Amino acid sequence: ARTYNASYATIVSNEELQALDSGRSTRHIEMLLPEGMTYKEGDHLGVLPRNANEIVNRILHRFGLKGDVQIQLTSNVTQLTHLPLNRPVHVNELLRTCVELQAPVTRTQLQELANYTVCPPHKRELEAMLEENNYTEQILENRITMLELLEKYEACELPFERFLELLPPLKPRYYSISSSPHLNSKQASITVSVVREPAWSGIGEFRGVASSYLADCQTGESILMFVRTPESGFELSEGPNVPIIMVGPGTGVAPFRGFLQARSVVKQRGLPLSEAHLFFGCRNDSDFIYRQELEQYEEAGIVKLHTAFSRVEGKPKTYVQHLMLKEAEQLLHLLDANGRIYVCGDGNQMAPAVEETLRQAYENVKGATIQEAKDWLRQLQAEGRYVQDVWAG
Ligand code: FAD
Repeated sequence: ARTYNASYATIVSNEELQALDSGRSTRHIEMLLPEGMTYKEGDHLGVLPRNANEIVNRILHRFGLKGDVQIQLTSNVTQLTHLPLNRPVHVNELLRTCVELQAPVTRTQLQELANYTVCPPHKRELEAMLEENNYTEQILENRITMLELLEKYEACELPFERFLELLPPLKPRYYSISSSPHLNSKQASITVSVVREPAWSGIGEFRGVASSYLADCQTGESILMFVRTPESGFELSEGPNVPIIMVGPGTGVAPFRGFLQARSVVKQRGLPLSEAHLFFGCRNDSDFIYRQELEQYEEAGIVKLHTAFSRVEGKPKTYVQHLMLKEAEQLLHLLDANGRIYVCGDGNQMAPAVEETLRQAYENVKGATIQEAKDWLRQLQAEGRYVQDVWAG
């Protein structure tokens, strides 16, 4: 927590945004910020999560330990700063807050598991997994963890302290803030897509560390968090002369909710607003998150909404980039008029597809060559008028 200068926020509400039949879960989580903490629309909220009790209990069971026992760790290895050294600590707390327990086993860890395995056939099995192809196919693609191997190979006599030493520090997870301080500067919200599905290993359910932790947080509970401003310049441009285009399917809509809240405050104050378009996308009505709010903002003239549905029976799969191409002329007109385009969400497929669409739109509308379109995009980026806040899913 000290590394990130984190402090405690209190959960004010934690609500499901998806319809019951959607099969997915996205949480809207409101929190009361620590005294004196400030943020801007477009900022990220870093959360220091806690590992699930269920995983911690499996580790305690494997090593024959009790969670409420206190231990004292000592080490002369300097990179172990994430472990509480030279002071008594409960094993439970240590496992819940300090180390990453669900990451795929690394080669170094695998080698060490083999070194401590006293049964020769099992030792050989573990060593065979170190081989390039085996490691990719058996470990990485199934995301096998150190715990899973320890459970499988009972003849592995890895000491608990060595296990701890081998584990990486528990990382913070980042979430785009989905509120505006102009509406309530003491509170912030995040929009969390919960990672919870059958594990790639084929054994049980995989629950993402932070998203599951946050999904289970109750009103009144405290979470360790901090605010970070992205270096990409992803922030709401002020002023009535800067039209904005927002592209945010799924949870990518999060920062734009903050932008729209800020615009609604400008409107309430009777000040002029620039033109704004939001390209949102989801599978169907069941995962149209924030629908009511977004439609109300549209009715109030705060934004023009373009919604793409990718899974509606009898209708072609439509993604945000398809709607953008349809509106190519208008988009180009807005960007020519000093507009800004913001893209948020999936960096694997959506963001590259949107970039490709922009390039194509420029070529079509301006009759330009591929090179000219690429130069135009580069120029937009250099001027900070094409900004992305994207992450790998
Ligand atoms: P982790 O425990 O970190 O697990 C995720 C890993 O598990 C991934 O590597 C994935 O490949 C793997 N995995 C997925 N499914 C399975 C499976 N079935 N079996 C085995 N492994 C699997 N997220 C949001 O929801 N909302 C946001 O606004 C948001 N904003 C972000 C902004 C930024 C700048 C960044 C970098 C990320 C953002 N994210 C956002 C993503 C978020 O930070 C987390 O990465 C996400 O919530 C998953 O974290 P987790 O701890 O729940 O999962």
